[in-house]
Amino acid sequence: REQTPSCAGCGVTLQTENAEKPGFLPETSLQRDPVICQRCFRIKHYNEASSVALDQDDFLRLLGSIGTTNSLVVHIVDLYDFEGSLISGLQRFVGNNPVLLVVNKIDLLPKGMNVNRIRNWVQRAAKAQGLRTVDVIMCSAKRNKGFEHVIEALEQHRGDRDIYVVGATNVGKSTLINRLIRDYSNMERELTTSRYPGTTLDAVYIPLDDGKSIIDTPGIVYSSRMTEVVPRSFLGSLLPDKPIKPLVYQLNEQQTLFIGSLARFDFVEGERQSFTLYISNALHVHRTKLERADELYEEHKGELLGAPSRDELASIPEWTRHSLRVKPGEKQDVFIAGLGWIQVNGLRGALIDVYAPKGVKVLLRDSMI
Ligand code: GDP
Repeated sequence: REQTPSCAGCGVTLQTENAEKPGFLPETSLQRDPVICQRCFRIKHYNEASSVALDQDDFLRLLGSIGTTNSLVVHIVDLYDFEGSLISGLQRFVGNNPVLLVVNKIDLLPKGMNVNRIRNWVQRAAKAQGLRTVDVIMCSAKRNKGFEHVIEALEQHRGDRDIYVVGATNVGKSTLINRLIRDYSNMERELTTSRYPGTTLDAVYIPLDDGKSIIDTPGIVYSSRMTEVVPRSFLGSLLPDKPIKPLVYQLNEQQTLFIGSLARFDFVEGERQSFTLYISNALHVHRTKLERADELYEEHKGELLGAPSRDELASIPEWTRHSLRVKPGEKQDVFIAGLGWIQVNGLRGALIDVYAPKGVKVLLRDSMI
């Protein structure tokens, strides 16, 4: 059996099976000389980065090599899925390299929000997670908002370093890198092979003017995000594309909200108060009495209760229950990774049960908004 060839661009082992994994190229392109993976091909010929993904173990191996590089680590997170997309423990891997946190998708914020206040929230939250950042930049790669601040920050903090870009899947890493390629890189130069000893060869090097590179790494797959447990066909309904219109519900205790057929929110105990949903407006919300909720779900999931369909639901893990006690005092968010959050507006506390597919991260946090 002949040896598996590797990509002449990035060095990754080539494969023809899975277009979403590193090293993919169509069978027919194996004849090309030099042979390069589809990802390198696209960057080279179309100046276009594409999304590939790695599972957590492989990604940790890749992260492990950052510490030996001399780079500015740019960590892209999704504002709308902050705790879902933050790479926990990144600090342990970066060595002495500075970390720039780029918070993407600020275009999704409801109209009239004060972005600086949100930025303060992000700074506190990142710090609480043990991440030390040289700066936090808010932007929208897709809608080209705040991109000049990204460039400024790169200039300010890069020095003579490479730029090492890391992020979870669907945070908009490719969209952002495509902008960087357009406005910031030097594609006259060739894409280069990994030069660092011990580097896992899944990173693509995009040349910069001064001989340094932007290093695009695969997106990390966190199975704790709703976006990773739903079928691909449903992803479009889950990822909002327009500013989120918050939905406000006045609930009495013993009332339930279904978020499509994806999750369930029970207000178990507490005084009448309002709850604000920050979720994709493509999802249907249905209110009912808690005592009716089990039966309603069994009878109407995937239909009256809204998407995903029964067929799609069959591939999603069963729900587990998370019991949360919101303490009196500050406003809190019930955060469901990859789905959004529910702000608890009453300051008198509440007992809440959340049902979400097994493995999906559910937590309480200080309100973002
Ligand atoms: P990657 O997996 O991190 O490379 O992410 P992609 O660049 O492929 O983007 C994932 C999804 O998020 C796509 O549907 C994009 O259109 C969308 N997206 C990327 N950037 C933004 C943004 O700034 N705002 C919004 N609303 N969506 C974005």
